Amino acid sequence: AQASTSKPVALYNSDHASQALRRIRIEADLKEAIDQQALNVHFQPQVNVSSKKIVAAEALVRWNHPEMGMISPAEFIPIAEESGMIVALGEVVFVKTLKTLKSLDALGCSVPVSINIGSDHFLMGNFVEWCVNTVEKEQVAIQFVKLELTESALLSSLEDGVRVLDRLREQGFKIALDDFGTGYSSLSYLLELPLDQLKIDKQFVDMLSKDKRSEKLLSHLVGMAHELELQVVVEGVESEFQVAFMEHAEADLIQGYYYYKPLPQDEFIRVLSESTEG
Ligand code: C2E
Ligand code: CA
Ligand code: CA
Ligand code: CA
Repeated sequence: AQASTSKPVALYNSDHASQALRRIRIEADLKEAIDQQALNVHFQPQVNVSSKKIVAAEALVRWNHPEMGMISPAEFIPIAEESGMIVALGEVVFVKTLKTLKSLDALGCSVPVSINIGSDHFLMGNFVEWCVNTVEKEQVAIQFVKLELTESALLSSLEDGVRVLDRLREQGFKIALDDFGTGYSSLSYLLELPLDQLKIDKQFVDMLSKDKRSEKLLSHLVGMAHELELQVVVEGVESEFQVAFMEHAEADLIQGYYYYKPLPQDEFIRVLSESTEG
């Protein structure tokens, strides 16, 4: 806002003030929600492109605020990151997800589940030890735990990032590169980073019907990822056309509303056991 504008000052300010208040409130209440384990984890199934069966899932945090209702992680995750709560939040989600993995194992329908890791968490000195200890304590088979990292988390310090990824993979964790196609995606990083899976962002998928060249780009991206022995997950698939295209492009897994939205644990377990039976 510039002094020369004729905007009604009070209105302008109150808008900003209420935004700032909302942020302050979210920050304060999130801390409490983390401490009281009031956060929930939902699971979005990932479907095999050819068999159409559920073969994996992504854990996504959910927060049902007692007065404000559901608050999107797109709103509170950045606040958690800026205010130093992302580690505590990440630990809660990690442990809850391991408990779900344990239930899957007991039911004989284990699938790998991905957990989003904030960059501060990943770059913490004892991250690898903490993960290994927690998985041992919860008695979960490590190969079912996949860690999702974004490029920004990995590239803030490429050398350290690669070292941590190597150690995680030595222990048996699987690693996915999240949101590929946003930000500064550079193909050269794909060669340098020790990864198991590439997740192609919804932004790419949304271009499909709008731009013919994006079809070529996506097909080649899938082919190149396969050359590098990376499994390809396509995110945000919502239409039959997009599903058909991913079959044609020979992507491996589809994660999108076309098949499933993120589901509460019990519902996830129900659709998963139906999918593995059928
Ligand atoms: P993300 O990691 O890229 O997760 C995928 C997001 O896309 C999820 O949003 C999911 O619900 C949504 N999505 C999946 N399929 C579709 C689709 O077909 N159409 C559309 N429109 N959306 C789809 P969500 O759950 O709101 O999470 C938003 C972001 O918040 C995540 O993006 C991730 O960056 C962050 N986040 C969520 N849970 C966690 C967590 O436990 N830890 C951390 N560090 N970040 C998290
Ligand atoms: Ca993710
Ligand atoms: Ca993503
Ligand atoms: Ca995203």
